[in-house]
Amino acid sequence: MEMIKVKAVVIAETKFGENDKLLTLFTDTLGAINVSAKGATSRHNNLKSATRFFCYGDFVLYDKKNGYYTISEVSPITDFMGLSKDVDRLCVASELVKFIKFSSVENEESKQMQRLLLNSLHFLANTDKNINLVRCIFYIKALFYMGIPPVMEECAICGGIEDLYCFAPEEGGAICSLCRDSVGYKIPMEKAVREFIAFVLNYPEENSFGIVAENALYEQIVQTLKIFLKTHLSYDI
Ligand SMILES: [Zn+2]
Repeated sequence: MEMIKVKAVVIAETKFGENDKLLTLFTDTLGAINVSAKGATSRHNNLKSATRFFCYGDFVLYDKKNGYYTISEVSPITDFMGLSKDVDRLCVASELVKFIKFSSVENEESKQMQRLLLNSLHFLANTDKNINLVRCIFYIKALFYMGIPPVMEECAICGGIEDLYCFAPEEGGAICSLCRDSVGYKIPMEKAVREFIAFVLNYPEENSFGIVAENALYEQIVQTLKIFLKTHLSYDI
C-alpha cells in the first residue's frame, strides 16, 4: 500500500455515515484533494480534533479510491482556534478558503498559495490585524502567484507612467489619461490605491502584512480587486 505524506489545511468537512467525515484538504504538493477520515466524528478517535475546518497538519494518506484518499494518521500543527472568538474574522477566513477552493486544482503543486493561506489565517486568528488589510494582501498575492497580477506601475495600454488615475479591468490594470477615452469600462482610481497594490505585488509576502493604512483605503482596494477578479476569473468575492 503506497503512503503519501502531505502538509495540508482542512478547507471543507462533511459528516458521512455513522462516524466518518469527508474532507477537502489543501495540500502543499497535490493541490486540493478529497479524503475520507474514518471514525473522525467518534468521540474517542484522535482524528476528531485534527480534521476540523481550518486545521493544519502533517497528513499520511493511502489508497485513492473513487476519487478519495483515506487518512492513515495526522500530526496536528495548528488549529487556528482563535478564529472562533470573533465572527467577523471567522467570516473573512471562510471567504479566503472559498477562493482557495475555487482556484486550486488537484495534483498541482501549491506551496506558495498554501503559505499565503496559512499566513492569512495566522494574522486573522492570532493577531488583531485589520481584516480588510488581510483580505487585500491575500487577493493581491494570490493574483501574483496565479500569474495574473494587475498592471499597476504603468499604463496597461501604452506603458506610460504619468497620470494613472483610472483602472480598466479588461485592459489589465491602470490606464493613463491619454488612453482613458479609448477604453470602455473603467473606474477612477486614487493614487494611494494604485501604489498600495503595486507595492504589495513587489514586496515579500511576510512583510506585506506589516503595512498600515486607513481602513477606508483597504475597502477601496478590495473593491478594485473585486472588479478585477470578476473580469478575469468570473469570481465573486
Ligand atoms: Zn496609456
